[in-house]
Amino acid sequence: IRRYDTLAAARNWSHNKNGDTFDAMNVTEIFGENTFQQDDLKEQLPKRIWKDLEKTIEEGEELNPDVADAVAVAMKDWAMDKGATHFTHWFQPLTGLTAEKHDSFITPNQGGGAITEFSGKDLIQGEPDASSFPNGGLRQTFEARGYTAWDPTSPAFIMENENGSYLCIPTAFASWTGEALDHKTPILRSNEALNKQVKRALEIFDVETKRATSTVGCEQEYFLIDQEFYYRRPDLMTSGRTLVGAKPPRGQELDDHYFGSIPERVLSFMLEAEQELYKLGIPVKTRHNEVAPSQYEIAPIFENCNIAADHQQLMMITLKRVARNYGLECMLHEKPFDGLNGSGKHLNWSISTSEGMNLLEPGDNPHDNMQFLFFFTAILKAVYENQDLLRISIAHAANDHRLGGNEAPPAIISTYIGDQLEDVIEQLLNGGAKESKQGGLMGLGSPVLPSLPKHAGDRNRTSPFAFTGNKFEFRAVGSSQSISFPIVVLNTIVADAIDELCTELEDNVDDSDSLEEALGAVIRDSLSESKDIIFNGDGYSDEWEEEAEERGLLNLPTTIDALPKLTDDKNIELFEKHNVLSEAEVYSRQEIWAEQYLTTLNIEADTTESMAKTMIYPAAVRYMNELAENVERIEKLGLDDEGSKAMLKKVNTTLNELNEALEELREAVLESNGDSIIDNAKHVKENVIPAMTKIRDAVDFLERHVADDYWPLPVYREMLFVK
Ligand code: ADP
Ligand code: MG
Repeated sequence: IRRYDTLAAARNWSHNKNGDTFDAMNVTEIFGENTFQQDDLKEQLPKRIWKDLEKTIEEGEELNPDVADAVAVAMKDWAMDKGATHFTHWFQPLTGLTAEKHDSFITPNQGGGAITEFSGKDLIQGEPDASSFPNGGLRQTFEARGYTAWDPTSPAFIMENENGSYLCIPTAFASWTGEALDHKTPILRSNEALNKQVKRALEIFDVETKRATSTVGCEQEYFLIDQEFYYRRPDLMTSGRTLVGAKPPRGQELDDHYFGSIPERVLSFMLEAEQELYKLGIPVKTRHNEVAPSQYEIAPIFENCNIAADHQQLMMITLKRVARNYGLECMLHEKPFDGLNGSGKHLNWSISTSEGMNLLEPGDNPHDNMQFLFFFTAILKAVYENQDLLRISIAHAANDHRLGGNEAPPAIISTYIGDQLEDVIEQLLNGGAKESKQGGLMGLGSPVLPSLPKHAGDRNRTSPFAFTGNKFEFRAVGSSQSISFPIVVLNTIVADAIDELCTELEDNVDDSDSLEEALGAVIRDSLSESKDIIFNGDGYSDEWEEEAEERGLLNLPTTIDALPKLTDDKNIELFEKHNVLSEAEVYSRQEIWAEQYLTTLNIEADTTESMAKTMIYPAAVRYMNELAENVERIEKLGLDDEGSKAMLKKVNTTLNELNEALEELREAVLESNGDSIIDNAKHVKENVIPAMTKIRDAVDFLERHVADDYWPLPVYREMLFVK
């Protein structure tokens, strides 16, 4: 008997769980259908109120309380028209996920019936019980109060299914004492810091703007496997990754999946997911197969960082939700399968004015574009001086499996800037930049093919932080993580670098003949200090590790190497200086993330142990009994029993090894009870992980030797190739 029918998994899916297909969409019609757009508001609000609100949304001015009541009425009408019965403040606690608590619009009236109600106060402020969200020591459990506060700059939206729908209001989440317990508050604060410094710098270049903001677009990678397999793997269910599992005979060696034709079921899933995302006003643009079998990617067009972060969370939720309509599980973990590429989330980042000027657009002649060079220099300075923070912003247990694994950038932060800009910088450092190398046209050797304009620089896939034409791409971000803290770090460190360069310039300008000369000097000085952060070579190579060490760059291979640095004086001062995070808020984040690391590994350790003991061990014993019986019978018949005996021995030896490793793991888990969370996390990294690896080695050996019909777990071959 097969342990279950893989063919059924491949065949028994329908177009969605109702078995019918949805109507082909008219993209422009449905786009933003489930969001409360500014246009909706504009129509429904008195002009005076709208003007007030617009100032808050577009220029970041303080919210006028009168506005809330008017908006609440309009919002409720709109939501109820869409069939919503409930509303929720939708927020992003430090779990990295989203949270919601629904309240209905219903309120009893005098006559024994009910009316609906939603006031300005309901809109502006909520009060969820904060005691069950991670707070990292920011409050005691008996101080349960927490507040959510409406973010008028991110549109409210409707979540729906066949049975009904509810209104979601994006909010920030803070403790009773006003400390940020969430991911949104620091984004808004850091974007404000960036706005302030960018405006100050733009004044030097005589550019006026209402507001500057960072822009963000994320390329999300994910795996899809049949749910049939997912639910039979305790490790996928508790940990999101396979804790055991032998390498299949075929993995990604053939390079045949990347950009391959999209399988039928997956395409159906993508179409429905995109439709749902369009309704939420999320501008998805790109989809394709990724490198590993059953790995895919989706990317939207960039938006302002706050909205992009909200949309990123919605995107992850939607992918997971819609996949189930097709009998699929969408896996966002950074490393679901050993030996195959993991998943990342390239975070594309730039700075733009509200009038739409991209400040990282070099134009055709970057050597001549002082404004571009100024901001570019500030970013290199920011990255050079804050390698630790960038590394910390992507540090979590799952990403440790990926970074530096010859599939993802190394844990050393550096930046790739391409030939053209490297050349311009060299010229600058040698006295002055006179020209920019041009890409020109590239012929393809056939008269029927057009000549293509060539970029002035190639791409580099191994750099953790690469300049890609008119934006930076932070490629080390993990696929499952909230993008908020990486954005907060980028906004803050760049604001700080701009701040310092502006101050130098303001000090210098009196001693120089011209602004241009003063600018040139400031840029040159800064670049000569931070140029070591530029690396255009192969980031996967061992030589780079050596060279980076010679250059004095930080190499923090794991979460536990990186996280303790978050509370270094330099970092606390930086966050406080720009009013992004208080000292207590920085400490709380460190504690929460260390705790998350610890919890993740404890769950993995427990799951590994129970799978090995209750699934693998019994399967191997059954097989051994069969072999032993076989040896006895063969002997009775006077035949040669060497084959069965040898197999029996191998399995038996491995079972003994497995047992030993299990004891090691138990001991290691029990020993992790020190005083500080960071110490415990260190202990886990040094003792629990090696024991888990030993168990995995034994189990994977058994998988290759125990009879297939005894093996209780779906294997890689099935999970990855049944589509
Ligand atoms: P690439 O070819 O470099 O991958 P794409 O145009 O495919 O570039 O864009 C990849 C991602 O980068 C998309 O999500 C896109 O919206 C985003 N992106 C493009 N320009 C910017 C920008 N100025 N700021 C932030 N993100 C951007
Ligand atoms: Mg890209």
